[in-house]
Amino acid sequence: MLLMRGLVLLNGRVFTARPGEPRFDGGVAIVGDEIVAVGGDAAVRAMAPPDAQQIDVDGRTILPGFIDPHNHLAFTGAELAAVDVRYPGVASIADLVARIAEVAERTPDGTWIRAVGVNPEQFPDGRLPTRWDLDEATRVHPVLVQHMSGHHALANTLALEQRGVGEDVADPPGGRLVRDDRGRVTGYCLDAAQALVVPIDVDIGHHGPGFHDDAPLDEIVGDIDRASRAYLAAGITSIVDAQVTRRELDAYRTAREQGVLGVRVTAMPISSQLDDYLAIGLAGPFGDDRLAIGPMKFYSDGALTGGTAAFSTPYGPHGEFTGSLYWPSEDDFRDAIGRAHAQGWQIGVHAQGDRAIDRVLDAFDAALATHPRDDHRHRIEHCGGPRPDQLERMAQLGVWAVGQPRYFWDAGDAWLASLDAARVHRLQPYREMADTRVRFALSSDAPVASYRPFDTVLSAVTRTTVGGALIGESQALSVEEALRACTHDAAASYFADDRLGTLEVGKLADLVVLEADPFTTAVDRLGDIAVEMTLLGGEIVYEAARRTATSDSIS
Ligand SMILES: [Zn+2]
Repeated sequence: MLLMRGLVLLNGRVFTARPGEPRFDGGVAIVGDEIVAVGGDAAVRAMAPPDAQQIDVDGRTILPGFIDPHNHLAFTGAELAAVDVRYPGVASIADLVARIAEVAERTPDGTWIRAVGVNPEQFPDGRLPTRWDLDEATRVHPVLVQHMSGHHALANTLALEQRGVGEDVADPPGGRLVRDDRGRVTGYCLDAAQALVVPIDVDIGHHGPGFHDDAPLDEIVGDIDRASRAYLAAGITSIVDAQVTRRELDAYRTAREQGVLGVRVTAMPISSQLDDYLAIGLAGPFGDDRLAIGPMKFYSDGALTGGTAAFSTPYGPHGEFTGSLYWPSEDDFRDAIGRAHAQGWQIGVHAQGDRAIDRVLDAFDAALATHPRDDHRHRIEHCGGPRPDQLERMAQLGVWAVGQPRYFWDAGDAWLASLDAARVHRLQPYREMADTRVRFALSSDAPVASYRPFDTVLSAVTRTTVGGALIGESQALSVEEALRACTHDAAASYFADDRLGTLEVGKLADLVVLEADPFTTAVDRLGDIAVEMTLLGGEIVYEAARRTATSDSIS
């Protein structure tokens, strides 16, 4: 018989994330890739093989590995290597121009310059940047600047020329080219119009924002490797990639073959592929614990930042936003959701505004009426502005919300300026969701917001903006609720809770040891908590350098 490797973590403070279970002193025993005991040190030691490796964690907190149920891992990897124009590093149009000019200086003429994370809603300029601004930085490099939401992009004049976007180009369905008062294209492309300027490999049409660019496979695999390492260092052991086409699935498969897929990945195929999956009779969950196909992803509306989220009453600093919907025909949208549901898919639909959420709930309602299913766990991704009656309806239908409280930090100031108080302070209303028994999980939506789980936890607990304002304080979660929403509930949001998300006998041994105890850390310092060690499937996959240094200095 093959002897299984054993490992015991002892002398810790354990948070299992099981609903209702208090924290306790003790540890975890692991054999192979599974947890075989959780409890007091003596009990745990008794269950471990005699030759098990023992690690004394010195009173530190042990909890399940973080699960990010709405994330874009491959794109986060690309962003980690791209030109970073996030706020507050870039805090004005002049800053943006200066940063691009500086990169252009050391980039061969003609090479594309990609920048990511711009947040002009935070700028003092009071207008969106244009191609003419970017032209000041360079006229000999095509430049593409991606908005922090991932929904919009700004191109310079050369990039527009190379992509054949002239004044006569019409707005595509689900998107819009911003034009100046003389009708000229400014280079700012909203939602589906991005596909006009991003060199696209996979065109998803009106099914969502078109960001599936033509980077070569080995580059995407490198992005996956880079992001995986960063995630493990931040304590993330599993993610759900919320928008996957052939491009990303190829890359994830290749990354796994090459041994660089560091975290567990569940892919959400985008709805443009629905007919292909129906044709071969496949529906998620399908795959294994390292790489799987999960829920199918649909889009209802656009982004809150930029004004493409669809609310039932207008918003914006001047009441100018009505929002836009990706699917031109509501009948087609409902029909597609119905067919995916009938095939057995779990469905996740991006929806921010209440008008978009109505569309989703109507579609789920109709699908469930025709094909009743008890435990479907259909999800609304983001679920920014649900009305109270919509929360009631979500609870009744069993629809989950998968939210991103970290948006408050990056985009909250812009939202305070563009939404009335009644709506802005009810964005992502987690307290109301808990009270109305709407199930929810928390995620990052990286690279839209920071991938670090403790940034998500901090923002769920404090709901502060980068400018220091508060959004809907009464909707704040406790540290315990936030941690559970990033572990147990995150796993349940895609049917992975039978093997992931808690420290429990029989579950996969994915766990983290933290440098500081989140339950005793001052709430405003939660974001500073570092991970000391990450285990995935019983293997130590990340260890902070400082830990090694400490033990060296002792010996
Ligand atoms: Zn997303």
